[in-house]
Amino acid sequence: MALSFVADSMLGRLARWLRALGYDTLYDASWEDGALVRIAHQEGRFLLTRDLALAQRAGAWAIVIESEALVEQLAQLRAILGVRAVAPFSRCLCCNAIVKPISPWAVRERVPTYVYATQSAFYICPNCGRVYWPGTHWERMRANIATWEAKGVLARSAEGSPSGGAEP
Ligand SMILES: [Zn+2]
Repeated sequence: MALSFVADSMLGRLARWLRALGYDTLYDASWEDGALVRIAHQEGRFLLTRDLALAQRAGAWAIVIESEALVEQLAQLRAILGVRAVAPFSRCLCCNAIVKPISPWAVRERVPTYVYATQSAFYICPNCGRVYWPGTHWERMRANIATWEAKGVLARSAEGSPSGGAEP
């Protein structure tokens, strides 16, 4: 079964990276404790939190994130759940929806001219409309993921597994 998460308001950066790795991760800084616990229980999501009281309310679904540092947070989740790059860049970093490929001409007016001229693959978030492309931003994130895999911060992706587009 695919792992999914809901992160508390202190863990926005971790939530973004979990999305980048391909995990279904809900995050909304305005959600209060009761809502977080309800979402975790109703949807079978692990509640990621740095708040012990909140973790107690969530019971078995809670994971208390020990560090404030992103790399240590990921390493903790790797140790507990084997977190890895399951489907990198398959989700919108902003809203968690699965992005879809879209023809360059369809996004021509919405991306910078030099990007349109130099990129051939574009993806759109069907929920918030954000457009993504494998440009410098994704490349930097991909380099981080590779470094973390090399250092054991993340588990290594399974051999031959699809690297994008697919649901974990
Ligand atoms: Zn989105």
